Amino acid sequence: FLLVNEALAKAYGSVPGNLVGKSDADFHFKEEVEYFRQVELKVINSGNIEYNIEENITDSSGNTRILSTTKIPYISHGVDTTGLLGISIDITERKKGEETLRKSEMNLEIKNMELEQKNVELEQFAYIASHDLQEPLRTTSSFVKLLQKQYHGRFDEKADLYFTYLLEASERMKELIKNLLEYSQIGNKKELKKVDCKEILYDVLTDLGMAIKEAEANIEYDQLPVIEGYATELKQLFQNLITNAIKFRKKETQPKLKITIQKIENAWQFSFQDNGIGIPEKFNEKIFVIFQRLHNRTEYEGSGIGLSHCKKIVELHKGKIWVKSSPGEGSTFYFTIPIINNHEQIK
Ligand code: ADP
Repeated sequence: FLLVNEALAKAYGSVPGNLVGKSDADFHFKEEVEYFRQVELKVINSGNIEYNIEENITDSSGNTRILSTTKIPYISHGVDTTGLLGISIDITERKKGEETLRKSEMNLEIKNMELEQKNVELEQFAYIASHDLQEPLRTTSSFVKLLQKQYHGRFDEKADLYFTYLLEASERMKELIKNLLEYSQIGNKKELKKVDCKEILYDVLTDLGMAIKEAEANIEYDQLPVIEGYATELKQLFQNLITNAIKFRKKETQPKLKITIQKIENAWQFSFQDNGIGIPEKFNEKIFVIFQRLHNRTEYEGSGIGLSHCKKIVELHKGKIWVKSSPGEGSTFYFTIPIINNHEQIK
């Protein structure tokens, strides 16, 4: 060593003055010294070419450090190459950080794949179960109907009542299974295309014409955009949110629904604001879970599937759905649909 700075001396657990006059051989293992010699010879013989290398060295405490090193021949008096000039940056910590990041990214990817696989399995299960349950249920339901038709009044009153319960329950089960089947099939035949939300809204308002008229609902809406999406599913999403806004209205209050749109960063944010009965905050997440309802069927009919459909449809579009609500004052359902460029695809 002809000239040594503080940092290198420190790496050798010494001070610069103690290093000058010594060499690699005084500080490193034999194998390391041999390695350094080879690199040094290569650099020296290369003329004046800069040599960059990542190398492992053992420091004074016996720990392996990773260095990013540049070496160039040191030309004395402009003629003879007598040695080399080296500069190293200790990148051990950065490397460790990169390794940790790489491992956690890999773990995340594995977890993601497992989750996707589980999701596919669950959907297949829901599809098969609901599909296969339909047949025996159809038979049960037909025979219960036959029983009621042919044997009504032939037993006592209690038996007639039991027939009615049986029939109601099997009809309801039919409905639930139909819903489950539909849920498992969302996005199955999806076709991504340009969808005019204005037209979707008009279609839904036409389909719900009777219910809107009966409830005397007032519906206001912004000029809605054309988006890249799945038309059938979007129609169902609009329909579920509008139906709920009308269904969960306050008694003796004209139902009002305001549909607005806002462009936020790279997404469209839709909001459906009603003046209905509202939802207690603690149920804000629960209502999006399949078959979860906050009321019994005698108060408000339904099976608790609508919002889980909405969630699945929004997520199919890579968006998010959530609600903000004040019980007794109304609810606003928000959802986002990312805006995708022409060359991008929803995976
Ligand atoms: P369903 O309408 O069949 O009950 P949903 O999944 O559509 O099922 O809704 C789940 C629950 O969320 C409803 O039972 C209701 O309690 C609540 N909810 C949904 N929309 C509204 C709304 N606009 N206002 C108040 N409560 C609502």
